[in-house]
Amino acid sequence: MRDAQFFRRWMTVAAAAVEREADRLTELDSPIGDADHGSNLLRGFTAVRAALEADSAASPGAVLTLAGRTLISTVGGASGPLYGTLLRRTGKELGEAAEVSDDALRKALYAGVGAVAQLGGAAPGDKTMLDALVPAVAELGTSYRAAADAAENGARATVPMLARKGRASYLGERSIGHQDPGATSAALLLGALADVAE
Ligand code: ADP
Ligand code: MG
Ligand code: MG
Repeated sequence: MRDAQFFRRWMTVAAAAVEREADRLTELDSPIGDADHGSNLLRGFTAVRAALEADSAASPGAVLTLAGRTLISTVGGASGPLYGTLLRRTGKELGEAAEVSDDALRKALYAGVGAVAQLGGAAPGDKTMLDALVPAVAELGTSYRAAADAAENGARATVPMLARKGRASYLGERSIGHQDPGATSAALLLGALADVAE
């Protein structure tokens, strides 16, 4: 079973990964975006860390809901509402239980990713974070590490894709040949989950 502390650790490790990779995420967002993905997520996850430190959120659901709400209110870019929705919806699905099973978390994340698809209107193949998130949740039944690897492979697989959603879609054919920044950060988030789960 996974308690609130587990989810706090997940958010802390994710924040550290975003901090470490912020420059790379912004670089990926330069040719096919507006060069702010790293700084957007750095601002967001720094605020998540502070919000969790200041709050006694004592259940898995409360931790993720607070993290999601914080991302929505601090990140100006598209990724804020999208990741915020992912965490908030996942948190809502987990409810108020003090501990949740891996199976419950798998189902909650599945619903969270569904909410991202609904909000952004994107599907796998559109060169967005969903190209990492969808294969990842499909592998959660295997292991957290398998899910993280699937996210990583999914992010790499966005390179030859033509962007159909978000800023990169304005470039049309010129979006081809670049890895999607949001799919790359989604792989960081899943990698952090695998790190804390081991
Ligand atoms: P912005 O594009 O507003 O500057 P960010 O740079 O922070 O926001 O995030 C860009 C990332 O958001 C993209 O790389 C993509 O993965 C993701 N994204 C953008 N639009 C959508 C969408 N409609 N559905 C899913 N993901 C999206
Ligand atoms: Mg951007
Ligand atoms: Mg922007």
